[in-house]
Amino acid sequence: MKVFHSPHHAGHRPAQTFRHGRIVTNRDLPARADNILAALRVDGHALLDAAPHGPKPIAAIHTPEYLDFLEHAWREWRKIEGASEDVFPYIFPVRGMDHAYPVSIVGRAGYHMHDCWAPIGEHTWAVAADSANLAVEAAVRVIGGEAAAYALCRPSGHHAFTDMGGGNCFLNNAAIAAEQLRRRFARVALIDVDVHHGNGSQGIFYRRDDVLFVSLHRDPIDYHPYFAGHAHERGEGRGLGFNLNLPLPKGAGDIAFLAALEAGCARIGAFQAEALVVSLGVDAHEADPTEGLKVTFDGFRRIGARLAALKLPTVLVQEGGYNMDTIARCVASALAGFEGRETKAA
Ligand SMILES: [Zn+2]
Repeated sequence: MKVFHSPHHAGHRPAQTFRHGRIVTNRDLPARADNILAALRVDGHALLDAAPHGPKPIAAIHTPEYLDFLEHAWREWRKIEGASEDVFPYIFPVRGMDHAYPVSIVGRAGYHMHDCWAPIGEHTWAVAADSANLAVEAAVRVIGGEAAAYALCRPSGHHAFTDMGGGNCFLNNAAIAAEQLRRRFARVALIDVDVHHGNGSQGIFYRRDDVLFVSLHRDPIDYHPYFAGHAHERGEGRGLGFNLNLPLPKGAGDIAFLAALEAGCARIGAFQAEALVVSLGVDAHEADPTEGLKVTFDGFRRIGARLAALKLPTVLVQEGGYNMDTIARCVASALAGFEGRETKAA
């Protein structure tokens, strides 16, 4: 499979994040992408650079004020005396109130970030745009006739809304790829197998009937992202019935996951999708520190195989996965399964 990657991802190095009220080490380490790339090299995939596609595909999903914020936030933040190295929002708009768009960078940070889990550093904007460009390249190749292509995106994207980032996501790579595919295909399905619900992707397409969103994830009743991902969220307006959440109980393994995947694939078939985007998070693995589900390496191979059986032009986009010892083999297993083989990656 053609694999699109970029060395620039390493410029985004968030040192810290918050969890349970404490400052802890951020799990989105550059080694995540480096390890995946090494495994895909072992498996003989074609490792390729992406051509530059400019700002238009990103602007097709995200608002101008949000993109302006991402581009300039770090420099503005660093002008505050004593400010942290990375941008961390700490004051947020109140639900149900009318708000003026804030001028101050402190206000803008709270306006555009829905949690404290996506610190913005000096190079974050450039790296996020570069990551999104990989997803665009994969979509362009699939439009050009490639059966499938994989974008090794870092940072991830599925927690990013049109004008909000969070959860280590800034630009929604998968949504950008889906929108790109819409230029050629009338109906695009976006399926998300990351252990966390793809709340940003759901938000972006919630009122649309031309992009079906399907998400498999640990039940958000007691898990990130808490506020979305429930089965009763089915879309609104024209989008009613075009959003399918398949929450799974904590610790569910291959059997439950593959059964839910079967339901998701049935919905994609009924939708008569012409193209597919896969948000390929692998943090549902049993050894992932996010402790959500217990999918095995072979489970990821079978997930890849089942998605390939849809026989759709497919863009696979990297999302989460945080165990440095297992992330690469999980991704390699899924891509090998998609191609009807086994991975050689250890
Ligand atoms: Zn995740």
